Formats: sequence, structure tokens, C-alpha cells
Amino acid sequence: MENRILGCLDCNKLFCQTNYDSYPAYEFDAESKSFKEKEMDDEKSFRKDHESHRIIELHEIKDSLCSHYPYWEPIREDYMLFTDGKKNYTVRRWRKDINEPLKYEIVNCMIEFSKPTLQAQSEDLRRQMLADIKRLKLDRNKIEEFVEHYEDFISNISLNDVFECGFSSNDPMVTYASLKDEIMESFLQTCSSYFSDDRIDILRKYIRENSEYDDVMNIIIKRHFQLIDNNTFNNQSSSPIMNSMN
Ligand SMILES: [Zn+2]
Repeated sequence: MENRILGCLDCNKLFCQTNYDSYPAYEFDAESKSFKEKEMDDEKSFRKDHESHRIIELHEIKDSLCSHYPYWEPIREDYMLFTDGKKNYTVRRWRKDINEPLKYEIVNCMIEFSKPTLQAQSEDLRRQMLADIKRLKLDRNKIEEFVEHYEDFISNISLNDVFECGFSSNDPMVTYASLKDEIMESFLQTCSSYFSDDRIDILRKYIRENSEYDDVMNIIIKRHFQLIDNNTFNNQSSSPIMNSMN
């Protein structure tokens, strides 16, 4: 992931530094019939192209990626926050053609997050409990009861009740989390009207064994975002970088 970009405020051009920028390129020299090293420095050429312009250096704000595209998808559109130390900028990063490099621009938008949703992995949990039915010493109805009860419990807890411990490679807005010990105990307490003490001990062990990374007892945290056009709030003339956007 990039963490530093250069921006020209006059042209709305962004340059993203990668490790390859200062690697040399090789050119075939017809005269000597050999390859010659040609020094490349894309940052230097960016600075030269925008010599008399206002250049800013921006750093990515950690964990600010907002995207509906899986991490592995090359054709994508993402939004991230960058800062020059004084002001935050929303940067759009996208690629429409697999053969093109990623493109960047600053957009005149704010990223607004709404409350994350927490949910149990009910289907996977049910499937795994049914596979472990003998060990759990429960019947199908009891498993169904447990899953529904867990779903219900999860819908009433908050981010403070969990530890985030994994991310989804398919959805950058999804993470996985396990229940904090005291929250798991309070869940088990609510189970005491449905299950006998020895079953609760088995369930406690089962929860502990299935609470790593994206394991079935862990919950899904889904974050939601929307882009709000800054002009909706602010009628002042925007910066030149914004004005040059189409
Ligand atoms: Zn420029």
C-alpha cells in the first residue's frame, strides 16, 4: 500500500511513489548492439514537469481505505484519506483497464462513516456445529436454538465488546472480531435458561476453540461509508485542484 504521494495543486496531478521509481531502465543501443542502463527517477521528472507549481507532499492516514472492491481485484475504485500535516484530502484511486497503472486524484468529497454493523456468521456456525454434533452432545433443535440465541445476543453488543482479529480479503470494509472474555461469559449466562451446566461448559470450550481470525464464533464487523460532496456544505470557491476536476 502506498503511503506517500506528491500532488500538484495547479494541475490536479498526483504522483505516487513506488519502490520501482528509481530503478534503472534498459535501452537497446543499436550502435554497440547492447543494452545500456538508463537512469530513471519518476519523482524527479514529476517535480521537473511541475517546476513552478505548488507541490504538496501527502501521507496516507492509516486504515482510511474505503472500497467495495476486493484487495486482489485489479480493476477497482477506492477512496483514501491523505494529509499534508495540516489538511486532510480525499484521494480517489482507480484503474479501468488491467494494463494501465493505478490513477490518483484528489476529490472534493468527504468520507462519511455510519455506525458499523456487527453480525454472527450464522450459516457457517450452524454448519460447523452440525458437523461437531456428537462432540457438542446437542441435537439439531438445540443447535438451532443456540445459533438464533447467539445471533440475537450479537445484535445487541458494540465494538467495545469485541477484539478485532482478522480482515476479509474479499471486502476491505469487513473485519472479524472475537468476543472479550467477560462478554462471552455474559452470553453463556444468558444460555443457562436453555442449556444445562455441563452443556454450557462444552459450549464455553467450543467458543474458545472457534474464536480465531475468521472462525465461526467470531463476528463480522461491516463498515459503511458514503462520499459527501463538499460543495453541499461549503459554497466557498474550492481550491484550484478541485476546480480542474470534471
Ligand atoms: Zn502542475
